[in-house]
Amino acid sequence: MAELRSRIGLQLAARLEAAASRARDEIAWRMARDIARCCDSSNVYVASGMQNEYGVFDGTATLWGCGYLLCPNCHPRDARRLRKRARAVLESMAVLVGERMRFLTLTLPTARDVGLLKSHEIFKTAWELFRKLKFWVELRPSGVVRLEWQPNGDGFHVHAHAVLSVKKIDFDECREAWGKCIVKAWAHHGVDQKIVTRSGLPFINIKFTYDRKDRSRTENLRDAVAEAVKYITKPTSWLALSDADLLAVATASLERDRLPRSFEVIGRARQSSRLGEAQAARDDRRILDTGLLSDGEAKKNLSDGVEWSNVQSAGSLAALISRAMALGRREALRVLPRWLWIQVTTAKIAREQERRREGLSYRYSQAVFTTLTGDEWRGVGVRSAIALL
Ligand SMILES: [Zn+2]
Repeated sequence: MAELRSRIGLQLAARLEAAASRARDEIAWRMARDIARCCDSSNVYVASGMQNEYGVFDGTATLWGCGYLLCPNCHPRDARRLRKRARAVLESMAVLVGERMRFLTLTLPTARDVGLLKSHEIFKTAWELFRKLKFWVELRPSGVVRLEWQPNGDGFHVHAHAVLSVKKIDFDECREAWGKCIVKAWAHHGVDQKIVTRSGLPFINIKFTYDRKDRSRTENLRDAVAEAVKYITKPTSWLALSDADLLAVATASLERDRLPRSFEVIGRARQSSRLGEAQAARDDRRILDTGLLSDGEAKKNLSDGVEWSNVQSAGSLAALISRAMALGRREALRVLPRWLWIQVTTAKIAREQERRREGLSYRYSQAVFTTLTGDEWRGVGVRSAIALL
């Protein structure tokens, strides 16, 4: 599994790197390079004998995470974290009298020759129109909404899943209303397209979230969230994209507004979510690397007045490198010349890998870790047991 993911990641990185070189897209070139470093055999490890409150387990992960959407190592981890947060939001939300937990799917028919980003824009416009409709507002739905997309033969299939506590939704009314919003959104974005189903209406689906009688509410909710917050796409389907689409996705994935990776919280759930999310974020920190790409506010203007391609401006090479080392990851990606970016990121990644190894051997003291290149290290408990022999 770990090897397969790594292989796909390296393939994808090579495709992206070639496309970026041809298009002279430096940012995408660097992203490709990071994905390759993330999927490198020396960065991927397999662990056996890890232990937590549920028991002993094996696993695989990366020492350093690039955090990019296109990365087959990072994206599933992202999705896992999001599912956990979505569950926390829904579990802390009260279901009012007359409401049930429902699972709603809204789809946007694929429009030919409309790329992912525009399909996405169209969906957002339709959704903004839909959520202001009187019938929808009066239902007072609360819960989480997640937008997903999949490349298919002639375009992108964009749809949304929502897990909501809500009164009975009239299927026909909802479908007709959603259809009208799509038509308006297409017109707004200048797309000449009709809904080509037999009924002339888009596909929607409404079902109960707690539909499995043989399972507990918690299990049913977990299933619903897993269905709503899936991986956005299988890593191999990125390989099917054209160079232009691949570059567009790579670039847009850096911007939260253009390709949001999270889910939207609506209605009463917004209040309960603050508590739930804070708890989930605390849990996350104990398990996963977080803030992969966030630089925070403090480091924002560090590169002001620095001419990165000119060593003299910093006084010496060492001074230039040390200033570059202080940059946040996102800023370094954008402002440093390539040679300096490679130097700085290589040093930082090595440091992070070392830190992560050490952290893991304390957190899972009885475990044994091996990278895909065969480099092995042990938990501190195993180490001291060996020392005693
Ligand atoms: Zn990665």
